[in-house]
Amino acid sequence: MPQPVARHPALELVNTFSGWDGAHASDYLVSFDHLAVLAGEVGLLPEHDVARLRRAASRQPEVAEAALERARTVRAVVRSAVLDPADAEAVGELAVAAQSAAPTVELVPGHPARWLVGGITAEHLDRPADAFAWAAADLLTRPEVSGVRSCPGLGCGWVFLDTSGRRRWCSMRWCGNRAKVRAHAERQKSAARPR
Ligand SMILES: [Zn+2]
Repeated sequence: MPQPVARHPALELVNTFSGWDGAHASDYLVSFDHLAVLAGEVGLLPEHDVARLRRAASRQPEVAEAALERARTVRAVVRSAVLDPADAEAVGELAVAAQSAAPTVELVPGHPARWLVGGITAEHLDRPADAFAWAAADLLTRPEVSGVRSCPGLGCGWVFLDTSGRRRWCSMRWCGNRAKVRAHAERQKSAARPR
């Protein structure tokens, strides 16, 4: 799985795919296990539930495949919705996914309190996608959503929360440097061109 760079769990789901601009597409969400592990790593599901879900998935491979496919659909909808919370079509589709999660959501006390999706339906294989959809819907209602940016790197399109107002790239190490190298090569080429 790619390094987390998004600063929000729902956005990390979007970043399991790169090449949203159509260039060099690559999908890191290759199995239900990847999906469940990611949901655990970003804090949306407790680790012991991730293990239970993976065991349940290995017993029902077809259901797991359908749940994975749904997660990929949710992923694209989340990206459109967080980049434009006024996009009625994307927000409508995200609302449908969040409504599937709603009856299973618990509010867990703490500092701060947090949502737990699917506590009562622990082995339901739609749970990871539901948890991401719920987290994305929650983000849509917050002012922070106006700070969601999409990386302009070629073959990227990852999304992240820009808390400084100055962040342009998903990562300076990947897209930022690649763009710098490309710009440098362009400058060299135009300097070498005869006048
Ligand atoms: Zn990037």
